[in-house]
Amino acid sequence: MGMTRQLRRSAAVLGPGALLLTTLALGSFAPAQAMTTGDVSRDCVVADAHGHDEAAAARGGERVRDHRAIDALEQERIERDFQRRLEQESLEQERLEQERRPGARAVGATVPVYVHVMRDANGGGDVTDSQIAQQIAVMNTSFSGGKSTEAADTGFQFTLAGVDRFNNTQWHQDKQSATYRKQTRKGGANALNIWLVDFDYLGIATFPWDYKRNPGIDGIRVQYTSLPGGAATNYNLGETATHEAGHWFGLYHTFQGGCTSTNDEVGDTPAQSSSTTGCPEGRDSCTLPGLDPIHNFMDYSYDSCYTMFTAGQATRSQQMWTAYRG
Ligand SMILES: [Zn+2]
Repeated sequence: MGMTRQLRRSAAVLGPGALLLTTLALGSFAPAQAMTTGDVSRDCVVADAHGHDEAAAARGGERVRDHRAIDALEQERIERDFQRRLEQESLEQERLEQERRPGARAVGATVPVYVHVMRDANGGGDVTDSQIAQQIAVMNTSFSGGKSTEAADTGFQFTLAGVDRFNNTQWHQDKQSATYRKQTRKGGANALNIWLVDFDYLGIATFPWDYKRNPGIDGIRVQYTSLPGGAATNYNLGETATHEAGHWFGLYHTFQGGCTSTNDEVGDTPAQSSSTTGCPEGRDSCTLPGLDPIHNFMDYSYDSCYTMFTAGQATRSQQMWTAYRG
């Protein structure tokens, strides 16, 4: 897209006030396109009035804010709704389980994955079936805690349910993203749709609590060069899809909320004032207990630095699944 594809982390230069370019309007999905044409800072967040779409990560292959903006008040509302649903769903599940499978408890799930390869009109921007298989394998290792003895097994695994390929330069560049997602998305709330595109970001995700309002766009958009063996230096081990899937399960960034005890709504991820760049061992950006969780998949570190989800994140993902996707 004529942009320099240098692989830089922007998070360090994000000032909190610089993040927002909110369009107060409009009802539809113009903002996602608008930001590629406007002269906006690379770390802007664009959201429509209904909060349907998110925006904005990683220009030039960095990780930057990659979901719609969620302020403290909305975060509280989301948590209240989540807890209310969880209570209802848990009671219902308990009842069903007692009827059908006494003693059984659902923990995690196997998630069907649909990969949509959005190539340009000439077939450029393709990935091989082998890369897709490797991508699924990376996610399975990462979500099962296979990269570190400290890592939690989230209980989630992924199985490839389908691959399709399109030749459309607009779609390849993530233009008309609401349209192409609605036209190509497959499966229900439990299906992870991954659209592989060439845009200014590493990835963009939707959250589970937004599924009901707009199921057609649910899923993650991922820079195709971030798949294993791709050209995105420092970000080509396939962990961008892991990070985006984390949002899709309902996880926030570990630096959500900054140096607050609420932080990312997960108790065992120490608070962080801002996102991490690279892999700075020993970083400690808050006076609250604990070093920054730079190895956590929900920070912005390099792929090679990522090793873990925590037990708290596993629990939140499972509960989110019960409330919104199961
Ligand atoms: Zn993210």
